[in-house]
Amino acid sequence: MIRGVILAIVALAFIALTSVASLQFACAADTPSSEAASGHFDADAATAAYLATMTPAARARSDAYFEGGYWLVLWDFLFGLLLAWALLGWRFSTRMRDFAARLTRFRWAQTALYAIQYFILTTVVSLPWAAYEGYIRERQYGMSNQGLGSWLGDQAKGLVITLIFGTLAAVAIYAVIRKLPKTWWLWGSAVAIGFLIFQIAISPTYLEPVFNKFYPVAESPLKQRILSLARANGIPADQVYEFDASKQTTKMSAHVSGMAGSAQISLNDNLMNRASPEEVEAVVGHEMGHYVLNHGYKGVLAFGVLIVIGFAFMSWAFQRVTLKFGGRWGLRDVGDVAGLPLLVALFSVYGFVLTPVFNTITRSMEAEADAFGLNAVRQPDGAAQAALHLAEYRKMQPGALEEIIFFDHPSGWNRIHRAMVWKAENFSAADIAAYDALHRPPGVNK
Ligand SMILES: [Zn+2]
Repeated sequence: MIRGVILAIVALAFIALTSVASLQFACAADTPSSEAASGHFDADAATAAYLATMTPAARARSDAYFEGGYWLVLWDFLFGLLLAWALLGWRFSTRMRDFAARLTRFRWAQTALYAIQYFILTTVVSLPWAAYEGYIRERQYGMSNQGLGSWLGDQAKGLVITLIFGTLAAVAIYAVIRKLPKTWWLWGSAVAIGFLIFQIAISPTYLEPVFNKFYPVAESPLKQRILSLARANGIPADQVYEFDASKQTTKMSAHVSGMAGSAQISLNDNLMNRASPEEVEAVVGHEMGHYVLNHGYKGVLAFGVLIVIGFAFMSWAFQRVTLKFGGRWGLRDVGDVAGLPLLVALFSVYGFVLTPVFNTITRSMEAEADAFGLNAVRQPDGAAQAALHLAEYRKMQPGALEEIIFFDHPSGWNRIHRAMVWKAENFSAADIAAYDALHRPPGVNK
């Protein structure tokens, strides 16, 4: 049995490492050299012209905002550990368990009651920190105009969703732990992956509309162009939606969501209000890339493997930690729901260490979607404009290692440079002259 389990872990680790290695390779290969570019267009100079449109002050602000985010990763992690330690060390956790046990004799109901207390308590205690991170800091940097009442409303909605799905997940996973105390990590991770897929599946229809209004985009040539791009790329969508993201943020975004034969193209109102038509096309092309390249399924597969390994780590580390502290914290065994804060803390240790791996998986898929978008809509300057807009909140030109560790999307410089290399290699001199006359990119003499 144990040998089988070890073999399974080794096999999964091998799959994860090889997939990460191939993604790393994809990443290294997707920083193209403009040496291959044709003589009629200088991709490096065009990239520099785009970067020069950003003032030093805007650049400094975006760098400070994004680099501050690196520290938030650390503080979030440490705050979570501190909270878990307080719940266990001061025996809040065992008290919540005993309280639940007094209310009902059903084990699953005790788990549910514990989970409800846990989610409410951790949300309330974390609220000041969450407010700094998601409300005060966002407003300081001009990333949001949301009022406090509206922000708190969103937090309350988020808590209700967590209470429903988090409690269901806790009941299901603890049922597995108690039934299969030796191999629970394997079956428990299957349950966790099931919940992940369920969440992705219901999110566009049931979760996103909780926070934002979605409505069809008014008729326009741009809308017809987007629908024709959808048909050209085999995306079954006959409507384009806009949503009121400006309620929460000034950031631009869009997504094409849906699984198993359905698709919804959604553009946020910041994009519709601030972007040029070629920029909207470039962004939509990128999002269509995620859909056509099955990034939803691939992401579930890649993260699924990491979840299985993470659960194996949790199971192993839980035993080690409770051997030393279990008595002091009043924990009985792994099936004791009072150990939930410890399981969550252990998974957060794993997630923290794997931050560069998670980021590299998503960043590689983002680079693929960029390439797909360029080929599909042929709007290199639209793509460059979008990268410039996104650089309002994402550091434009990080170091290579910095990008691998912290970036879940390619940096602005990388995206603009790739778009300009694409332009050099896929447009003739005549194409470029006609295209530039229409779109007037920076650095072009009119
Ligand atoms: Zn993307």
